[in-house]
Amino acid sequence: MLLKSNIEDLKKVLKKDNILFKEEERYCYAEDSANIKTETSLPDLVIFVETTEEVQRVAKYANQHKIPIISRGAGTNMVGSCVCTEGGIVLNFSKMNKILEFNPDDMTMKVQPGAVLADIKNMAESAGLFYPPDPANFKVSTIGGSIAQSSGGAKSFKYGTTKDYILSLKVVLADGTLLRLGSGTVKDAVGYHLNQLIIGSEGTLAIVVEAELKLIPKPESNALVTAYFDSIESAVNGVNGIIRERIFPATIDFMDKNAINTVEKFYPSGLNTNKECMLLIEVDGFASSISTQLNRVEKALRENNASDIKLLFNQNDMEAVWTARRASYGATAKLAPDVVTDDVIVPRSSLSKMVKGCKDICNKHNLQVCIVGHVGDGNVHPQIALNLDNDEEYKNLMDAKSEIYSLAISLGGTISAEHGVGIEKISYVDKILDSNAIEYMKQIKMLFDSNGILNPGKIFKM
Ligand SMILES: Cc1cc2nc3c(=O)[nH]c(=O)nc-3n(C[C@H](O)[C@H](O)[C@H](O)COP(=O)(O)OP(=O)(O)OC[C@H]3O[C@@H](n4cnc5c(N)ncnc54)[C@H](O)[C@@H]3O)c2cc1C
Repeated sequence: MLLKSNIEDLKKVLKKDNILFKEEERYCYAEDSANIKTETSLPDLVIFVETTEEVQRVAKYANQHKIPIISRGAGTNMVGSCVCTEGGIVLNFSKMNKILEFNPDDMTMKVQPGAVLADIKNMAESAGLFYPPDPANFKVSTIGGSIAQSSGGAKSFKYGTTKDYILSLKVVLADGTLLRLGSGTVKDAVGYHLNQLIIGSEGTLAIVVEAELKLIPKPESNALVTAYFDSIESAVNGVNGIIRERIFPATIDFMDKNAINTVEKFYPSGLNTNKECMLLIEVDGFASSISTQLNRVEKALRENNASDIKLLFNQNDMEAVWTARRASYGATAKLAPDVVTDDVIVPRSSLSKMVKGCKDICNKHNLQVCIVGHVGDGNVHPQIALNLDNDEEYKNLMDAKSEIYSLAISLGGTISAEHGVGIEKISYVDKILDSNAIEYMKQIKMLFDSNGILNPGKIFKM
């Protein structure tokens, strides 16, 4: 906990307007987008940082006084990764949100950590380039938060995740030291790739103050196919058929019957509510290649008993379908006072077992579940609607989560594909990671942050 004298010290070296210390102001930072009951605390102070030097100053001071620092972007992570477990200082990056350099010829962009993904994407697209990582909330999500969670999204199947688009990072260590990691070139075979260690480290190893991003040419054209199936197995077979046709879709997303029906109940979008599940398959590339791709996708789908196949070329029609898919979380939230989503991943060959298993587990525990996912990756998001204040429902949720994780592990998968661990999955980490690997991770943490001030209480217990 910060003492009054700590607050006075920090006020002397930072702009007064950039510090929040009133309880009602700090209260807004007590939560993120996770929806679980855990022991969290209010931050003692929230600081809007404006420069790297300020971040260094705060880190150095916090390290000397052993005060926790919790970096925060838009606060949209779903695992309690930017809440405070023992008070401390929240660093708010919304004033470090600039695009610093854009080099279309090198296909790179330098950005501050608070830059919003939508702005990065729009800037890239203005020069015919593309930044592919696309968490569904990319309109608000920051690059700092995406780097810390190694965010993915619908396009990960073809284009990879955030980790594939970071050329270099500038980071501030717990003691205030500034490090540049990576070279900014697309290939780099010099030394250990420490920037990859920071990506996905959930703010526990270092504070990102600048990132250089790799961009790629934006595909010239795209089109969307929607198709419905009587079983999950047929849908997965359809996906395998598409790959056998040598088509590499940008996205292969999935909605189960409950998800479709719930979207239609609250946001009518013209989806077919009679079938067991739906696939959304987006192809992209040269305009001249689109019809060939669509023909092959359609052939593979028909061979696997798809029905109601629709080919969409118009951007507005495509966007309407994607809006329906993205609305599934909001729609599920209307079924009960609360909604909790999860994020398991299995090899695609086990996907239908995973989806069915999630349904059976939720049914067993009397929980309403709408399942969506990124089928290409084998990534399943069960969205569970419930009342978190009802003790019985909450217990059922925790039991169901634990069973869902065990199932994912037994099918050769893992407990998070893209949302991370935060505080939510901390007690499951030792079930999935090699115990020796955990020991190495803890030693790495000690090397970067010997006082344990960076985002304490996340990923694993020290
Ligand atoms: C509706 C919805 C849909 C979503 N869909 C997807 C999806 O499809 N795919 C996906 O992968 N995720 C998804 N997410 C999760 C979320 O988008 C990502 O976790 C997101 O990238 C977090 O960004 P943020 O700016 O909100 O970060 P925050 O939530 O603020 O922070 C996330 C983590 O980053 C750390 N952090 C923030 N800034 C820094 C920094 N400068 N230096 C070091 N650490 C930092 C924080 O301490 C915390 O550990 C979704 C979330 C919502 C609410």
